[in-house]
Amino acid sequence: MVILDGKATSDKIKQEIAQMVKEKVANGGKRPHLVAILVGNDGASQTYVSNKERACAQVGFNSTLHRFPAEITQEELINKIVEINHNNDVDGLIVQLPLPDHIDEDAVINAIHPSKDVDGFHPENVGKMTLGLPTFVPATPYGILRLLEEYGVETSGKHCVIIGRSNIVGRPLANLMSLKDNPGNCTVTICHSNTKNIDNYTKQADIIIAALGSPRFLKGDMISEGTVIVDVGITRVADATKKTGYRLEGDVDFDSVAPKASYITPVPGGVGPMTIVSLMVNTLKAAEGK
Ligand code: NAP
Repeated sequence: MVILDGKATSDKIKQEIAQMVKEKVANGGKRPHLVAILVGNDGASQTYVSNKERACAQVGFNSTLHRFPAEITQEELINKIVEINHNNDVDGLIVQLPLPDHIDEDAVINAIHPSKDVDGFHPENVGKMTLGLPTFVPATPYGILRLLEEYGVETSGKHCVIIGRSNIVGRPLANLMSLKDNPGNCTVTICHSNTKNIDNYTKQADIIIAALGSPRFLKGDMISEGTVIVDVGITRVADATKKTGYRLEGDVDFDSVAPKASYITPVPGGVGPMTIVSLMVNTLKAAEGK
């Protein structure tokens, strides 16, 4: 069994980006600039945004964080997005999700200019991705593909079972893994909360991507020997022994699954760091596209 080490892989990619930025700036080019918008005080969202800011600093990007209270109106938020769309110094713009209930997330995503949509959530970019055209691929799916590629995991002709159909993880992954590409070229099954007898599908899988947000859902007796396992889940579970008061749990029961797996991502240190570095890749691409 091989650990798909997202931490080490993302560190390597970060160093490559940092080198590219250094050369770009030395040649008189502009330093890439990522802007993040954070609404409200959700603890996990604050952590994600500060991790993204830290990654920007590590690769030599400029980053700006705009924070707004949870009470901000949708109109005010969209006005800010439009202002940033017009700011030529900004290459990438992300709005940390989820947003408060009174704000329509689709309207907010639609307001981001597709050329700055480094999260790859705008319908125009989603459409391009689905057709296999060059675009910003959402960070988590991109990071997973890159990790499989870095480890030379064979995907062509394999049966990939994805658990979860969200717009940011499961659905784009299903599209990408089914494209005639490498990684990709898989036969894909998507499971969700209405799927009956999920283990019928997971036992037939060569690759399982668990993205449902249910700690330790996938158990060893649900998979076959030699399966490639990608664990996207990150759930904060209360843990009094930790300084933070919680620990992070994946969607895979690592102890029972790992001995049967050929490759497996750990939590933490697997998909999480790959997601953040993929946002850096997209931001660099946005800056290059200017
Ligand atoms: P989400 O929007 O809540 O979607 C979860 C999906 O899983 C839904 O499609 C849901 O089905 C399905 N599901 C829920 N319970 C299920 C069950 N018991 N059996 C089968 N399917 C089930 O979640 P998400 O945003 O995709 O995130 C999924 C997990 O990945 C979360 O733990 C999240 O924190 C984590 N995540 C990690 C990263 C990273 O960088 N590592 C990035 C993004 C997300 P329905 O559609 O029927 O409701």
